[in-house]
Amino acid sequence: MEHNRQSKKRSHRRRPSGTSTRHHASFLRRFWFEILALILFGIGVFLLLERLQIKSIAYRALVSSYRATAELFSNVANGATAALERVERSDLVGVVLIVVAIVMLVLGLRRRAIRRSLPLLEGAPCPECGEVLERVRRTLAQRLLQTLFVIRIRPYACRKCSFRATVWSTRYDV
Ligand SMILES: [Zn+2]
Repeated sequence: MEHNRQSKKRSHRRRPSGTSTRHHASFLRRFWFEILALILFGIGVFLLLERLQIKSIAYRALVSSYRATAELFSNVANGATAALERVERSDLVGVVLIVVAIVMLVLGLRRRAIRRSLPLLEGAPCPECGEVLERVRRTLAQRLLQTLFVIRIRPYACRKCSFRATVWSTRYDV
């Protein structure tokens, strides 16, 4: 595993010049979701800590765009707008951004875990020794993760060697 990673790194370095920007771009493409989440998280924290005008500016922008939408839903939304205006201004924006950022990070981790475990699906042999992989019982932590990510985690262990892996999927039927 470690050896693999090193040889990959080396091949990156050997690429002709001009690939560093491409490498940079692919990094952004791979992690844009997490980066965006972190930016939102940062803004949220900033808004919560910042006690100056910027808060009310952002709040006013939110409320005015909210109002524009609200007009479409008139009656029901009017009540909601009144409720929104009663909440302490910027704190609301900060809390919303932080909640959105946390949800995005959880979704990002979930998506990554699903994608990473895909090669192991459907009765694949042990990648270390080629022996059969068996389903084993879930640990308490895995059960908690299942609930947190709203996902199915299926742990496997090799019959022969110490290889263990988990398959994360949204399929609940297995
Ligand atoms: Zn094995």
